[in-house]
Amino acid sequence: MLRINPHYARMGKSYLFAEIAHRVAKFRADHPDTNVISMGIGDVTQPLVPCVINALHAAVDDMGSSETFHGYGPEQGYPFLREALALEYAARGVSISPDDIFISDGAKCDLGNFQELFAPETTVAVTDPVYPVYVDSNCMAGRGGTWTEQGWSGIRYLPCTAENNFIPPFPEIAPDVLYLCSPNNPTGTALNRSTLEAWVHYAQRNGMLIMFDAAYECFIDDSQDDIPHSIYEIPGAEEVAVEFRSFSKSAGFTGLRCAFAVVPSRLNVGGNGQLHDMWARRQTTKYNGCPYIVQKAAQAACSPEGRKQTQDVIRIYRSNATLMRETMKNLGLSVYGGVHAPYLWVRTPQHMNSWEFFQFLLDRAAVVCTPGSGFGPSGEGYARFTAFSSPESTLEAMSRLSSALKTA
Ligand SMILES: *Cc1c(COP(=O)(O)O)cnc(C)c1O
Repeated sequence: MLRINPHYARMGKSYLFAEIAHRVAKFRADHPDTNVISMGIGDVTQPLVPCVINALHAAVDDMGSSETFHGYGPEQGYPFLREALALEYAARGVSISPDDIFISDGAKCDLGNFQELFAPETTVAVTDPVYPVYVDSNCMAGRGGTWTEQGWSGIRYLPCTAENNFIPPFPEIAPDVLYLCSPNNPTGTALNRSTLEAWVHYAQRNGMLIMFDAAYECFIDDSQDDIPHSIYEIPGAEEVAVEFRSFSKSAGFTGLRCAFAVVPSRLNVGGNGQLHDMWARRQTTKYNGCPYIVQKAAQAACSPEGRKQTQDVIRIYRSNATLMRETMKNLGLSVYGGVHAPYLWVRTPQHMNSWEFFQFLLDRAAVVCTPGSGFGPSGEGYARFTAFSSPESTLEAMSRLSSALKTA
């Protein structure tokens, strides 16, 4: 007799984006002539850059001729891409071996899958608010305990709010694993060098693994603060941290799919030196590799010309974020993030809770944000806005938001 995984069964439906979609659909039905502007879902809108398109076309042609056809590739990714990525690290003074880089079709799946290497009773901590993948994947593996108003009883939440500048506090009792995302989704804030150093030292002292999600590294503005692009910029991090990166936000690959994890051979947390080999074993068993065509496109995105073109696109999103920050600040809102990340994390005004503010903006401005409470208990009283819309839509949304708040 089949018995289903009880931990999955207990997860329930993903409430947040379903509820948003439901409310937006209702608004559209009631206001068929109103153009709703979405600043909710974190997806890019600008097309792929010419350099990437050219590489895709060339790789398609490779597949059409027997001399250059590619079948199954190496599960870990083609050396041409792993070497290109190692060179990018080297350009920042970080020495990463191509052998420690694992190419995949997404950071979301890597982040979700990696916990398979941990024992069932592993204690997991996350910053709160949080990218839900870290929490849900551990709950599916049975580490969640029971769901309460304050989140999952088995997960440790480290509150990150305006009061602590969105810097997670050090837990008195160290967890076995900590997920850190910098620049952060959803708060849009980034951890500076001294904070990351302190976390690496904490991990070394306590035998804790850091799962470092750097999906938004490309948004770091080096002219503003000292924000490491990689956790491996901190000496010793290669012994305690795995790093996850993606071409999704850096090169607009959300629909194309390419990412990578750095799992150093030197990783040795609490005497466990085998995570690199275990991840290789896991990937070769359950994964057959990112498509050749896509890896060629990713390689092109890493070329000097590709970097220049993708940075031009990021500049568009960055200037959206700047406009949003300025507009909201002038309206008297407390706004965080939006400098090193395409997200703005906004305190809800007039004592509205997250969902009330969401509904207010939808009804009065036809603008969609994401209620902060959907990202964890400490997200209540905030809303997330993304800077991924077109410049025209961003301008229009800010003008509507201004009118709505001024007449509220
Ligand atoms: C978008 C995003 C990623 C990247 O996910 P992909 O699967 O590579 O598209 C990873 N982490 C966070 C926090 C994200 O927001």
